[in-house]
Amino acid sequence: MRVDVISVFPGIFEPYVGASMLGIAREKGALEFAAHDLRDWALPGVHRAVDDSPYGGGAGMVLRPEPYFAAVRAVTALDERKPLVVLMSPQGETLTQETAERLAGEERLLILCGRYEGFDERIRSLADLELSIGDYVLTGGELPAMVVIDAVARLLPGVLGGEDSAGDESFTTGLLEYPQYTRPASFEGMAVPNVLVSGDHGRIARWRREQAIARTAKRRPDLLERAWDELTESERALAERAQTDKTEDA
Ligand code: SAH
Repeated sequence: MRVDVISVFPGIFEPYVGASMLGIAREKGALEFAAHDLRDWALPGVHRAVDDSPYGGGAGMVLRPEPYFAAVRAVTALDERKPLVVLMSPQGETLTQETAERLAGEERLLILCGRYEGFDERIRSLADLELSIGDYVLTGGELPAMVVIDAVARLLPGVLGGEDSAGDESFTTGLLEYPQYTRPASFEGMAVPNVLVSGDHGRIARWRREQAIARTAKRRPDLLERAWDELTESERALAERAQTDKTEDA
């Protein structure tokens, strides 16, 4: 997959997108990434302006349409694959694992990052999709764009180690993930549950499924409601017990 971003701070992407899993994804060629400086398409003049004050008055600056239209056209033309254009905005649809999975199926993404008070409304017409990363306002679209890239890139074939690394996780199954442990078996009086060291894969799988259901029931009843149809009778009973049991830490 190829991902391009357009931003007034293109330099802040490289340290993150070059590190860890995303760095490996790029080395393997699963992910091609390029950050472009909106100021390369700034209005002529010494200030290389990309923004202006809002019509109708009010505080702050708004990104003007000319640089963004020129940038999107030029960046689109860098590759023959047509990108899905994603505009980052707190007014967009909220990013979910399902959206990340859908985006991971695209050949190319072009992500537009806002700054200041945001985009001139006409820039929205360039976008196929507007995405928010949650109900709060940040100073720019760069962190939201990195959240999208991270969530999508780890789903690309060959990026995570095992085939199943992304399969069991929170949200993928509609449930939160079961508790995970690694060595040591006992730490400051806190022991790893016996079942996990039993070597009995059937029991381990059942324990994990029960834990995932109990956890989701306690922490995210909204998710459980959506997964309800996929639960067996006894799993539903377990969920109901977990929900009413206030003592157990799940
Ligand atoms: N005035 C705008 C917010 C501007 S914040 C409004 O009220 O809608 C500046 C830029 O940061 C936005 O254009 C967007 O690209 C980015 N941004 C801020 N919060 C975001 C969020 N929760 N999700 C996605 N992008 C966000």
